[in-house]
Amino acid sequence: MKKIALIGCTGSIGRQAAEVVRSHRQEFCFSTLVAGSDRAGLHALEEEFHPAIACLAAEIPSHAALFADCDVALIAAGGFAGLRYTLAAIEAGKTVALANKESLVCGGELVMRAAKRRGVDILPVDSEHSALFQCLGMRRDTPFKKLILTASGGPFLHYEEEQLRSVTAADALRHPTWRMGAKITIDCATLLNKGYEIIEAKWLYGADFSQIQAVVHPESIVHSLVLFEDGAMLAQLGYPDMRLPIQLALSYPKRLPCCEEVDLAKIGTLHFERLPAEKFPCFGLALQAGRAGGTAPTVLNGAAETAVQAFLRGRIAFPAIAETIEDVLGRIPIERADSYGTLSRADARAREEARRLIDE
Ligand code: MG
Repeated sequence: MKKIALIGCTGSIGRQAAEVVRSHRQEFCFSTLVAGSDRAGLHALEEEFHPAIACLAAEIPSHAALFADCDVALIAAGGFAGLRYTLAAIEAGKTVALANKESLVCGGELVMRAAKRRGVDILPVDSEHSALFQCLGMRRDTPFKKLILTASGGPFLHYEEEQLRSVTAADALRHPTWRMGAKITIDCATLLNKGYEIIEAKWLYGADFSQIQAVVHPESIVHSLVLFEDGAMLAQLGYPDMRLPIQLALSYPKRLPCCEEVDLAKIGTLHFERLPAEKFPCFGLALQAGRAGGTAPTVLNGAAETAVQAFLRGRIAFPAIAETIEDVLGRIPIERADSYGTLSRADARAREEARRLIDE
């Protein structure tokens, strides 16, 4: 029986992780449940799963205590806040099932260095990175030539720049294939999410940016692909269902029953097309910050989290998300990402600068 510490238990990933545990009671149980602010949601899960620790993020006694008695730490908290949990789980010497992108986007260097030092595995929960992991034979040392991430393209893929000026939060929240939380759904619409995923792939698989590309695949059936030296290309297929990557990160190296099998004849044609990066500046900004390294991705993310919240509240227009990020990146000098403290200060400064620009 694997004991799971689940951080972010009432969000989209958290609720689907509870479904996974519910359908495999012989395999998994929860030792720790932490919720952001949904006390009623936390209470319902506590009644059902009886974890040793159940608390809201604001009431955590110590981060280390959360992971003392678990086999796997599933980090599904959203945003920069997830990084602190990831680092604490690694320090506790636990396998990390990582659903929090910002841990690698902002803290990739710190996280991978700490994981190596502690001999801890970081297992991807993001569907694209789980697909890559599967195509690599669930090994870290499999040589590859290229990693190819698929992108649904979000709801505005074929919009003209003119149309993008007037889209609303409600339009952006209508994702064509995946059901997710609000922040990540907006990040899919701006393609910031795909930029983040390229940075994640760089850290997880030790790839150079030149070895990673993204391609639009509107059906979201192929979750990513790996190209090998000899020209062979492997893909992982499945219906868009996050339970599979969540479950595989928990059951690894085993596979357990999970999802409906893909009916290829019913699906018919699968499409792939070039990612129109020029229409979605957030994608390029993420890559630019990823290449610059140091605190740049943290500054980008702090500005993005602030700008997306302002967009969701109707305070700024859709193109202003990218404009805010670009302005903030230009105003804050890059430092070396040598500690959590440095990143945390860069994050706070980026948010402050973004709020000032948005005039809040
Ligand atoms: Mg993804």
